[in-house]
Amino acid sequence: MNRPLYPAVSPFRVALRKCCPRCGKGKLFQRFLKISLRCDHCNLNLENADSGDGPAVIIILILGFLVVAQMMALELAYAPPMWVHISVMTVVCLTGAYIMLPFFKGLMVALQYRTQSGD
Ligand SMILES: [Zn+2]
Repeated sequence: MNRPLYPAVSPFRVALRKCCPRCGKGKLFQRFLKISLRCDHCNLNLENADSGDGPAVIIILILGFLVVAQMMALELAYAPPMWVHISVMTVVCLTGAYIMLPFFKGLMVALQYRTQSGD
C-alpha cells in the first residue's frame, strides 16, 4: 500500500493561508490574485489551476445579500439620504470583495486539485 507523499491539506486551510493545495507550504499566489506557475516548495504545477468566474459569482451572491440587508436595516433605522447609502455600500462592497476574492479563489483551486485524479 502506497502512502501519499504529502498529507492531505484541507481546502479551507489552503484558502485561509493561501498556500499550495498539495504540500500546504508553498505560496499559491504570485501576486494578489495571480496564481503561481509552480509551488516553490513541492514543485506542483499550478499552470492549469483555473477557478474561472466561480469566486466572483459566489462573492456577488454573498455581498449582494449582505448589502441589501444592510441597506434595508439602515433605511429603516435612520432613513439617511441616498448619498449615505451609496457611500457606505460602495466601501462595504469593495472591502468585502478585496477580502473574499483571494479566499474563494484559493478554495476553488484547492477543491479543483483535490477532486482531480492523479498527481
Ligand atoms: Zn506545494
